[in-house]
Amino acid sequence: MLPNEYLYLDYNATTPVDPLVLQVMIPFFNVHFGNAASTTHSLGRFAADAVHKSREQVSQLINCESNELIFTSGSTEAINQAISSIGAIYRSKGRHIITWKSEHKAVLESCERLEKLGYQVSMLSVNREGMPDLEEFEKTITNETILVSAMLVNNETGVIFPIEAIAKITHAKNSLLFCDATQAPGKMHVDVNELGADLMCISAHKMYGPKGIGALFIRRKNPRVVIEPLLVGGGHERGLRSGTLNVPAIVGFGEASKISLENYWEEGSRISRLRTLLEQELTTNGGGYVNGSIRNRVANTSNIYFEGIRATDLISKTPSIAIATGSACTSALPEPSHVLTAMGLNSKQIMGSVRISLGRFTTMEDITGAIKILGSAINKLREK
Ligand SMILES: *Cc1c(COP(=O)(O)O)cnc(C)c1O
Repeated sequence: MLPNEYLYLDYNATTPVDPLVLQVMIPFFNVHFGNAASTTHSLGRFAADAVHKSREQVSQLINCESNELIFTSGSTEAINQAISSIGAIYRSKGRHIITWKSEHKAVLESCERLEKLGYQVSMLSVNREGMPDLEEFEKTITNETILVSAMLVNNETGVIFPIEAIAKITHAKNSLLFCDATQAPGKMHVDVNELGADLMCISAHKMYGPKGIGALFIRRKNPRVVIEPLLVGGGHERGLRSGTLNVPAIVGFGEASKISLENYWEEGSRISRLRTLLEQELTTNGGGYVNGSIRNRVANTSNIYFEGIRATDLISKTPSIAIATGSACTSALPEPSHVLTAMGLNSKQIMGSVRISLGRFTTMEDITGAIKILGSAINKLREK
């Protein structure tokens, strides 16, 4: 067990499973353990019914029809499937794809794979605030563009992209929009029809559900989007994702979706007050600068640059606090954050930046504790 005074402030990397979610999952491991595809008996039908209910709950979270969702192992898988199959299926329309340099690596590398197969990929820049230049986008998109990939909420900065506007420009060229919305549920209102995304992914472990489960939304009407499977076999998920369904995880994902939908507004305003307090202290007394648009940002994320300090030193001086430099996925290699690089920060600024992300179980005591511990570490590092 972790010590009590351990402060977890890395909710954008992953979240703990909500105890209410865990509670509904447990019986599905050993009591209701049926295979949801084995509906000749009641055990299998019970599992199938539970999956059906979860699919409805996840659909309600993003406001789609339940037959527009397939369960995947998470967002990485959904992103790979969406981008590679749109590339393959729509190639007769063209071979051009557009995305932004601040996207998640799963998107960037999926696009690079297509590039190696002869597709043309335009990787657009973002400005110092992490926002896209829509005029540049409009100039880049052509009739040969088959896919535009844009994330809703950036995992490193919390910056919200103008997906509705991007969707309008995309659809005017008869192209499809894939939206990585992994960081959005529970942090903002997410409605796939308002956003105008044709494909979208979310992941349970970023919203107090279990790891290893996520969903891909595939629009069925206006337009009807066609994709192909990554995994073939027993024909599960309408043939688009074979493999025995992970029923406990799916049930947990459903419950997590329900809780997020019910609580996001209240939770957001509570977390927003905590972040404001934290940022005020770390900027006025700690001499930090906030990275990313202040106006277009979700309430839980704070990416802060401390002049004259190395983030890795700050992190090693504060072992009781879990915070991140750059993104978790690349933190094994001390590579500068590609998101902050895309925003135009120089290498000193990037190496001096940390990401602090709050969540459902963050308390006022956590924040006052973090302010004290980080504040004194910053002062000590500055004295040197
Ligand atoms: C976490 C994350 C992913 C990857 O999701 P997994 O379910 O862990 O594979 C993709 N995009 C964003 C924005 C994320 O935050």
